Parts: sequence; C-alpha cells; structure tokens
Amino acid sequence: MDFETIKARDDRYVMHTYARFPVDIDHGENATLWSADGKEYIDFTSGIGVDSVGCADPRWVAAVAAQAAKVGHMSNLFYTQPCGKLAERLCRRAGMSAAFFCNSGAESNEAIIKLARKWSYDKYGKGRATILTLKGSFHGRTIATLSATGQDVFHDYFFPFNEGFRYAEPTLDGVSQVAGHDVCAVLVELIQGESGVWPLEESFVQGLAELCAKRDWLLLVDEVQTGIGRTGTLFCYQQYGISPDAVSFAKGIAGGLPLGGILANEKCRDVLGPGTHATTFGGNPVCCAAALATLDILDEEMMGEIADKGDYLRRAIEAMDLPALGKTRGLGLMIGIEVAPGGSNREIARRLMDNGLLVLTAGPAIRLLPPLTITKDEMDKGLAILKQTLS
Ligand SMILES: *Cc1c(COP(=O)(O)O)cnc(C)c1O
Repeated sequence: MDFETIKARDDRYVMHTYARFPVDIDHGENATLWSADGKEYIDFTSGIGVDSVGCADPRWVAAVAAQAAKVGHMSNLFYTQPCGKLAERLCRRAGMSAAFFCNSGAESNEAIIKLARKWSYDKYGKGRATILTLKGSFHGRTIATLSATGQDVFHDYFFPFNEGFRYAEPTLDGVSQVAGHDVCAVLVELIQGESGVWPLEESFVQGLAELCAKRDWLLLVDEVQTGIGRTGTLFCYQQYGISPDAVSFAKGIAGGLPLGGILANEKCRDVLGPGTHATTFGGNPVCCAAALATLDILDEEMMGEIADKGDYLRRAIEAMDLPALGKTRGLGLMIGIEVAPGGSNREIARRLMDNGLLVLTAGPAIRLLPPLTITKDEMDKGLAILKQTLS
C-alpha cells in the first residue's frame, strides 16, 4: 500500500489527536526502520523511548511468541509466572521491595499517587494528601496525572482538575514556598523529558531527599522516561545518590509492548492491599515475558555502553557546530539539543526525516532517545544525515 492511501485512511478514521509526520513505518531491525515503500530511516526516537532494545530483536520476538503460545492473558485473580519473575528481577536490580504492574506511564503515576495518599492516610488520617510536583514536569494525560503536571499548556480545556497538587520551582526555596501540613509526598522527574530534557541539579535532589526525610514526605520519582537503562543505569535515581520510597516506570520496560508499574521500598510495599488498586491487564504474561527478554538483552555489558554512546553522540553533534543547533544536555541516551534562536525544532525534525533520520522534539529542543542497543554504525549513519541536512 502506498503512503497516500495509508494516510488517507488514517485521516478518515483515526481521531486527529497526533500531529503526525508524513511517514509510515512498516518494519525494522534494531535502530534501522523501513517504510512500506522501502525508504530507510535511522531511528533516534525508539518510539519515544519505548523500543529500548530496538526493533525485532530475535530474542525479544522469541520470548513474546513463546509466551503468546502458552497463555496470552489471565486475570490477576490467578498466578502467572512472568509477572512474579519480572517483579523479583526489578526489585533485586533496583534495591526495592515490591512491584505493582499496569499498562502505561500515566497509570503508573496514578498508582504512585494512590500509594502516597493511602500511606499518609494510614499513618496520619485525613487532610494530608497533597503531592508537590515541579514546574515544567510531565506526568501523563489522565485527569489526575494532568493535575500533577506542572505545565500550564497541558491544562487548557479539561477543567475541572483534581485537587491535591501544588507546583514548586525546582529549588529548595521553591519547594519550601509551597510546602504545608497537608503535604504527603513529592513527585519528580530527575530529567524533565517532555518539557525539553532538563536534568535536575544533583544538590537540589539531595536536598529534597533530606527535606522529605525531615517532613516525613514520601519521595516519589517518575522514571517513566528515564528508567530501564535510558540514562545508563537501570534507574536514573541510582546516579543521583537517593533512595526513593517509590518509583514509576513504563516506556522502555517491555521493549515495545504496553507495560508500566511502580516499585516500592520496604516502608511502602504493603500500603496498597487487596481491593485498593487494580487493573485488568496489569502484569499481563506476554508483556512481562517481553520485559524479561528486554532486561536479558540489557545485560551489564549493554548497560555499560549506554553512557559512552550518549557521550559519543553529544560530542559528535557539538563538534559539527551546526548553525541551526546549540548545546546538548542530558544523561546517557536521553539527549536534548538546543535549537538556535528563531529556529523551529519541528521544522528541523521534518527536514531530518525527509533525509532519513527520525528525531523527536520536546519543549523548545530536539530530543534524541535512540534504542539503547543502537550500534556505532547506526549512530554514524544518523550523524551523517544530521550533518548533511543541517550544514
Ligand atoms: C511519557 C511519560 C508519562 C506518560 O506515559 P504514558 O505511557 O504516555 O501514559 C509520564 N511521565 C513521564 C516522565 C513520561 O515521560
């Protein structure tokens, strides 16, 4: 089927909630993708950080197929092995105590919000349910996670929002200004992704952890984008020297299938008991098998290369000194690139795409989230397209 026919059908029958680029992706191999008519693209997006082990890794494909051939879904009223196996693996590698699984990033943050409020209710009773989040944050598109999101642009149209969130400037003073006796927790992204790839200051994060301990607030980290190796460690908090009470994850966990969840420490592991939280698809055996295969592929060796790959890309891009681009920022393979004043990140992304390189935008920046398994050859091909397009 040619692209115009594919597009016309979508335009007619799919709600126009996405400003799509005029490209269809038909199949791929690691970080190289092809459209139905055979055009090749180097993928610096991994489907917004989801295809963490690239496209169609044979180990991932085999694990998904094998589990689908055994049992594709069973309700959480029964046991299936992949769910428990994945929970054990994640807890061991993260130093956490227990997991809850759901299906997306927004849902994982819904779970972390409910966990925080229930924990505080159990200990202090009513009236201590407010969660502090940061200006510039992004926590999802459901009503509660939009309420938690500290960016006004996301708050048009959908009033009324939920009470119980206050937004702080990402400084200790900023947090103190919105603190109060009604607060139970702080929820942060350590690198604010959607607003433009802004890493939080390490001293701020450590100060925040101390403040949480002092005020008996839970420290919650949204690792939906930064988690599962994206920044070079399983979770980004492991590089900030903090021990959160709970962490949410999704995007990259299952290498392309929908899976999200939270991990909680010993203090919070039993807060959500039977009947307090649930989701039909949570812990689906095929998604959990996909996640186990993803973690197998992201072994210590692969994980150890992520920081170097990120450095390699950032150095190469800065060395090109392209007039359209500025400095780079980020950690591991989560990279933001400044756009020169007056330039449009969407326009740049469009030109790169025309020449066979897929990149993302975030806030005012260009954002790169390549598969963590991207090869040097694929990085070099992508860099060559970048240079040729923007020189
Ligand atoms: C993408 C993202 C979400 C939302 O995840 P969905 O799977 O789209 O619901 C939440 N928090 C952060 C930090 C994200 O990057």
